[in-house]
Amino acid sequence: MRQVVVHKYGGTSVASPARIKRVCRRIASVARNHPVVVVVSAMGHTTDRLIELARKVSPAPPARELDALTANGETITAPLVAMCLQALGVPAISLTGLQAGVRTSGHHSKARIMGIETQRIKAELDAGRVCVVAGFQGFTESMEITTLGRGGSDTTAVALAAVLGARVCEIYTDVDGIYSADPRVVVRPRKIEYISYEEMLELAAVGARVMHPRAVEIGELYGVDVHVRSSFKKGTGTMIVAQVPMEDRNRVRGVAHESNVAKITVRGVPDKPGVAAALFEPLGAASISVDVIVQNVGVTGATDITFTVAEDELPQAVALVQRANREIGANEVLSSGGLAKLSIVGTGMLGTPGIAARMFKTLAEQKINIEMISTSEIRITCLVDRARAEDGVRALHTAFDLDQQ
Ligand code: ADP
Ligand code: ASP
Ligand code: MG
Repeated sequence: MRQVVVHKYGGTSVASPARIKRVCRRIASVARNHPVVVVVSAMGHTTDRLIELARKVSPAPPARELDALTANGETITAPLVAMCLQALGVPAISLTGLQAGVRTSGHHSKARIMGIETQRIKAELDAGRVCVVAGFQGFTESMEITTLGRGGSDTTAVALAAVLGARVCEIYTDVDGIYSADPRVVVRPRKIEYISYEEMLELAAVGARVMHPRAVEIGELYGVDVHVRSSFKKGTGTMIVAQVPMEDRNRVRGVAHESNVAKITVRGVPDKPGVAAALFEPLGAASISVDVIVQNVGVTGATDITFTVAEDELPQAVALVQRANREIGANEVLSSGGLAKLSIVGTGMLGTPGIAARMFKTLAEQKINIEMISTSEIRITCLVDRARAEDGVRALHTAFDLDQQ
């Protein structure tokens, strides 16, 4: 079969009938020469609206029903795009996650793709039809509907590109590429031509919502390059690739922030083997990600452990930690929200001394207090007051010479 082309169109790109028509004209021109798979998101802010609707009828909507609800956003877009293509004379068919064979784990609202059964898509492509797949959704072994987490249509697209042997996955969005910071926060961000999977994964994981982190991970694993580009403007965007050209390497590449952050402190934890596991295992089992973790040096046989979780998972996390706490016999569990993570990312950090100091000094000059710090080889993250996070992003962007001249 000829090279399959995979395009993904985000919510803004399919927000109205006029935009759907525009997207379809682009797809039609590619479909003349290639088998095409198109992955679509929900129109505009549909997913937000569905979640709001759920909260109006239930204070804590059960995860299963929430997935069954939110998956509908994408289920609506796919047939609209397929019928628009057909109206343009392009043979096309819409497929839900189930029809497209997207098998996932059972973690509602953050399911992971376990595999894709491609027979149906391959048969449709062989029959000369464009496959328009509803992104973000999948199904479990027991035929439950799942979703992949906010922004998850990117992951559907890259996973399909991987299993169909596409070399590149084109992510069409409302920005013309990856920038050194969110263009909604920084006035003169710099557009990045090439970025490594590694750097993009770190940026996405700490708040650069332009790409879903799992999509980057799958791209790296299966060697699919990801081209992030505008569905509104012509021209190339950013390539997410394994190797970036030499001159793009040696610097801090980007600044990102994540606002949905809360912290939990467990005081007076007995300083002995096994307690950290006892605390964190229940959180892992409930699929709650724990992030920046700080354990103080033990004094008189006891220690304090502080860590962060997403603020919208704080009540569940606190309940689990309190239960574990009763078993390990710690003193008390404290928690607070209203925090944000501020991060700088770049492979150029490796072997460049003074980067951390420059970050801390910049935040001090802005009178932004650092509550916790975590690092990887190519990232430094500071936990700060949420109200100051965007000021911090702007100050760091300037301090690391990222402002576009
Ligand atoms: P889509 O609906 O197409 O998936 P998203 O809203 O998920 O689009 O992602 C695009 C948005 O990501 C942009 O409008 C931008 O505000 C935001 N964004 C955050 N960080 C970055 C960054 N470093 N570079 C580009 N865009 C970013
Ligand atoms: N519609 C989903 C969301 O808004 C998934 C996506 O757009 O990628 O998060
Ligand atoms: Mg997105």
